[in-house]
Amino acid sequence: MSLSQEKLKQNIKNIYEQAGDAEVIAVTKYVDIEAMKSLYNQGVRLFAENRAQELLEKQDLLGDLNEEIEWHFIGRLQRRPVKDIINRIDYLHSLDRMSLVKEVDKRAEGIIKCFLQVNISQEEQKAGFAVEELEEVIQEIADYPNIEIIGLMTMAPYEAEEDELNHIFSSLKNEQEKIAALNLPYAPCQELSMGMSRDYHLAVAHGATYVRVGSAFFEE
Ligand SMILES: *Cc1c(COP(=O)(O)O)cnc(C)c1O
Repeated sequence: MSLSQEKLKQNIKNIYEQAGDAEVIAVTKYVDIEAMKSLYNQGVRLFAENRAQELLEKQDLLGDLNEEIEWHFIGRLQRRPVKDIINRIDYLHSLDRMSLVKEVDKRAEGIIKCFLQVNISQEEQKAGFAVEELEEVIQEIADYPNIEIIGLMTMAPYEAEEDELNHIFSSLKNEQEKIAALNLPYAPCQELSMGMSRDYHLAVAHGATYVRVGSAFFEE
């Protein structure tokens, strides 16, 4: 990492200020263990990875520091590595299909806090449930006692303009409130995981409770 500690400190301060009341999750998929330790030394404790193998490697390298770290998994998760990571993370943001619900429930040694990933923008290449399926999915999840739906998550298309971002974030909030109103014990659904480096300001304005920020930490 070529970034000076001074600049990193400034970036961290800016990001936390702009995020307001939302929790900031540092997405470390682009950076090595030294950069992660720099973030840790500056007080960052919420980390996210999007690949199972990399999460495990970084946890091993961080050793004792893991005791204070809250781990979030945010990437597309295949079924095979579920058993390796599911009991080593605190939050799963990318619960995006019923086959994954089943596998997580089967491998979990306790209740796993999950976000349902929603494909609001309906991009074909994006993972996530369609808005129209959410109600049925929520009912089906009642059969999987190790899954707790604490909120909804979405990713906006990379090239989205402000109008589209406003639409995506407000739609996710709307869906979150509908599920929360069902008052299901296994799906309190109070949280909104939305917003990345380029759009977290907007996401926060729409009620994001978690923002997932990667590259903005390391900008010159
Ligand atoms: C990479 C990634 C992020 C962070 O992206 P930046 O643009 O670097 O902030 C957030 N969420 C998910 C799911 C990601 O894969």
